[in-house]
Amino acid sequence: MLSPVTDADGAPFWEYAARGELRVQACADCAEPRFPPRPCCPHCQSFASEWLPVSGRGRVWSYVVPHPPLLPDYAARAPYNVVLVELADAPRIRLVGNVVSGPGAPLNSCDPGGIRIGAPVRVVFSGGLPQWVLA
Ligand code: ZN
Repeated sequence: MLSPVTDADGAPFWEYAARGELRVQACADCAEPRFPPRPCCPHCQSFASEWLPVSGRGRVWSYVVPHPPLLPDYAARAPYNVVLVELADAPRIRLVGNVVSGPGAPLNSCDPGGIRIGAPVRVVFSGGLPQWVLA
């Protein structure tokens, strides 16, 4: 599995995820959540930020089912899905991930035919990686 590449702005996202918490960066002045994490608020230009806990509920905003040719590590896992999840608590934020059958389940554990745009999902964590299950 590919490991997340972190930077100073995004490191807290992964630290919370490692503890099983989904949080998004938000402006400490105007409260607007933002993603990806970055130093400055695009709405009010404040540099003050905080990490807002979110419910982990969302819906599939879009998805793809990659087909060969794929990188060798992924070819063995096909068919799998890659989803864009719109967070219920922060609808302007969409996180890239995978729908799996449960926490720790393999990448190809969910039949891509069961995924629909708009389907409700909730977050699960596998080794500090946020993934999604159909709700
Ligand atoms: Zn702001």
